[in-house]
Amino acid sequence: MAKATYRFDILSLAPQVFESLSSYGVTGRAISSNIAELNFYNPRDFTTDNYSKVDDEPYGGGAGMVLKPEPFFAAFDSIPFSASRKVLLMSPQGRNLYQNDLQNWSSLDQLILICGQYEGFDERIRTLADEEVSIGDYILTGGELPAMIIINGVLRLLPGTLGAPESLDEESHTDTLLSYPQYTRPSEFRGMKVPNVLRSGDHGAIAAWRLSQRKDRTRKRRPDLFKRWLLSQSSSNKERDEI
Ligand code: SAM
Repeated sequence: MAKATYRFDILSLAPQVFESLSSYGVTGRAISSNIAELNFYNPRDFTTDNYSKVDDEPYGGGAGMVLKPEPFFAAFDSIPFSASRKVLLMSPQGRNLYQNDLQNWSSLDQLILICGQYEGFDERIRTLADEEVSIGDYILTGGELPAMIIINGVLRLLPGTLGAPESLDEESHTDTLLSYPQYTRPSEFRGMKVPNVLRSGDHGAIAAWRLSQRKDRTRKRRPDLFKRWLLSQSSSNKERDEI
């Protein structure tokens, strides 16, 4: 039986920001072919006052405006739940996002993403979420870009999105090692040559070269990842000594 369309349900005060996801490229095609759907809930549409007020001054004083709980709870209550889902709140105070998270969430039926703005959420809005997720140790003006990053990262893992799903196998961050160097035609450009092994047709030698490049590159660029990879392998003593 074909898998049901994956649901992304997004609470955002700026749903128009997400337009590029459904209009362009790989993500646009995945959405137009019903691999996934994007549904939006603007808390402003769930306000009950004459001014459609979604924010207010912080109790205790201080700069900026805080997002009010009532419109976020009302918007959240209107979302239909699928059987397996996760509710994620975009927050620089959350734990950092990893490829492994995207992998886990891609096996669900639904992701609900809550995007903040201004000074952030009234603390009670946080109770709606299963997890708070940060895309890095820096501050953006809103949760829309972080949510788009998560949607893009999950969407490309859903069956049918990528033309060549085997391209996922040896990607950076899939099994901790970074990916290997890639070349295409011409075989020589401005004095820079494609390594002979890649043109040899010897698949065993190519695979061995690629693995050694992945290890080398990871060791030099991301010693933290290389250490993690070594610990996850029954690696040789020589490699362990290199940590
Ligand atoms: N005052 C908040 C704090 O110090 O934690 C920051 C609020 S930020 C200006 C507004 C919103 O942008 C946040 O509520 C969150 O939804 C989103 N945001 C900003 N930086 C983020 C990050 N690194 N990861 C995820 N979401 C982020």
